[in-house]
Parts: sequence; C-alpha cells; structure tokens
Amino acid sequence: MSIVPNAAPNLALNNGVEIPQLGFGVFQVPAEQVIDAVRTALDAGYRLIDTAAAYGNEEGVGRAIADSGVAREDIFVTTKVWNDDHGYDKALKAFDASRGRLGLDVLDMYLIHWPTPARDNFAQTWEALEKIYEEGGARVVGVCNFTVAHLRQLLETASVVPAVNQIELHPGFAQSEVRDFHDRHGIVTEAWSPIGQGKGLLDDPAVTKVADAHGTSPAQAVLRWHIQLGNVVIPKSVTPDRIRSNIDVFGFELTEGEMAALSGLTMFGRLGPDPDQFNG
Ligand code: NDP
Repeated sequence: MSIVPNAAPNLALNNGVEIPQLGFGVFQVPAEQVIDAVRTALDAGYRLIDTAAAYGNEEGVGRAIADSGVAREDIFVTTKVWNDDHGYDKALKAFDASRGRLGLDVLDMYLIHWPTPARDNFAQTWEALEKIYEEGGARVVGVCNFTVAHLRQLLETASVVPAVNQIELHPGFAQSEVRDFHDRHGIVTEAWSPIGQGKGLLDDPAVTKVADAHGTSPAQAVLRWHIQLGNVVIPKSVTPDRIRSNIDVFGFELTEGEMAALSGLTMFGRLGPDPDQFNG
C-alpha cells in the first residue's frame, strides 16, 4: 500500500518546533499489536505517535517507525516519564531507557506523565527535562495532567516553559479554565481521550446530529471540534478503518452553532483519574 504524506497541519510550539495537530495514541495497544497499528497509522498519514514508558510498547513503536519507509525527521515521537521515575536522577535514567527501547537518539517530545502531587517533586523532574532539552535529547519538553495550580507552581521555578500540557479533554469535559491558562502562557493543549474513549459520547444525539449534517462518523465530528478549538489530538484505535477515518477530518468545517453545541455538552465528565488525587 502507498504511504499517504502528512495528512494533518502542523502547529508551532513555543520554541518554534512544529507538531502535527492530529496524531496517533497507543495507550492500551498491546506490544504484539502496536507494530501493525503504528504502521497503519503512518501509512494513513499520521506523523505524530504518542507513547509512554508505562504503555509497555515503546519497542514496537520504534520498530514500526524504523521499518515504515517514512523519514525519521518527518515523524514526531512523544514518550513520557512515569510516576515511579520522578526526581532528577531517576528521570534522566528513565529518559535514556525510553530512548533505548525506541531505538532513537533524539526524541521529539518528552513529557512528565502525571504531576503526582503526593510526591511533591515534579519541580526536580522538570529540571531533568530541562537538562534533556538543553542537551538536545528532546526537541520539546512538556507535561501531562497538570492543573492550573500545578502549572503555576511549576512556572515559579522553571526556566523552560512547557511547550505542551496533555490533558483529558473531550466534549463534556472541555477544560476551558486550563485552556485559557495555556493560551495566556503559550502552552499548546493536547487532548487525550479525545473521543471520550469511544463510549457514550459518540452516541450522544448532539454529536450524531453534527455528524449526520456533515456525512461523517461521530468520532470525526468530535475530532473536528478539537481541531477548530486549536487542540492537538491523539485518538487511539487498533481498527484499520477507524485509524484511517479518524485523520480524515480536514475536509469539512463545523459551524459556530455546532461548535457551541458540542462545547455545551455537560453529561460526560472526567473519565480518567483526577490529577490532584492520582499518585500511582
Ligand atoms: P480515545 O478517546 O482515543 O478512544 C479510544 C477508544 O475509542 C478505543 O476503544 C477505540 O477502539 C475507540 N475508537 C477509536 N476510533 C473510533 C471510531 N472512529 N469510532 C468508534 N470508536 C472508536 O481514548 P484514549 O484513552 O486511548 O486516548 C487517546 C490517547 O491519548 C492514548 O492512546 C494515549 O496516547 C493518550 N493518553 C494519555 C494519557 C495521559 O495521562 N497523558 C491518558 C490517556 C490517554 P479500537 O481501538 O477498538 O478501534
């Protein structure tokens, strides 16, 4: 099968590095399935792959990239430091271990996976990420699951402003307070579980109405909502048809009314852990 070129536009991050606005997430993709899934995604035009040490599939992601036929510099690879590896020295070691598993010298983006406030040391972890960034090990560094309070605390001591905060975000959990803070500080919002984990949200009448109006799937309607909000999105699927259709969201536009209808959904709250409570 031929390889589709980059099918998503890029956004510029706060250091000028560009990130594809739509990428491929591989949380809960088993190691034995990840090579095929990433290969299908790259063939379909995805150029951002989002993994994490905790997902247990970095080797497969690296293998799929190496074998893909797509130039390394055309793929934006993200991984994350897990909660057990908070702290300056541990985070540096975790980064090297991830690089080794991915088989890549330079990563595009390295993120703190969770703030784990009970450990009270994400500032030290961030210092390690700053060193990684300054030494050129990662072209971009950022965080995940930081609330406004966590970001304020981080910015008190940080010398590098995170380029990205990857947070749970979908219609019904639109995170407007965090997005406003990001906008004021030049931080790009990256949405995880962007289609609400493929559950109830996609059956909601407000979503299916928008999808029907454009002749798209509910997932495409929701992904388009993210794109128009300015989010980076990383939907996950192991189903080839879904992988292909989830990136086919650049040929239609939601009206202001449709955007407002999806933003106004209230019956789907947080699906994942609360960053203030999660210290696992
Ligand atoms: P998503 O919102 O991406 O939903 C994934 C689910 O939706 C899967 O069950 C998938 O099924 C299904 N699905 C995919 N496409 C469609 C479609 N077109 N129609 C109907 N169902 C569909 O949830 P995730 O939680 O996986 O989040 C995406 C990514 O975000 C993760 O893979 C990960 O990279 C990142 N993430 C980051 C976190 C963090 O703490 N930083 C936390 C959680 C996620 P199937 O695969 O069977 O097709």
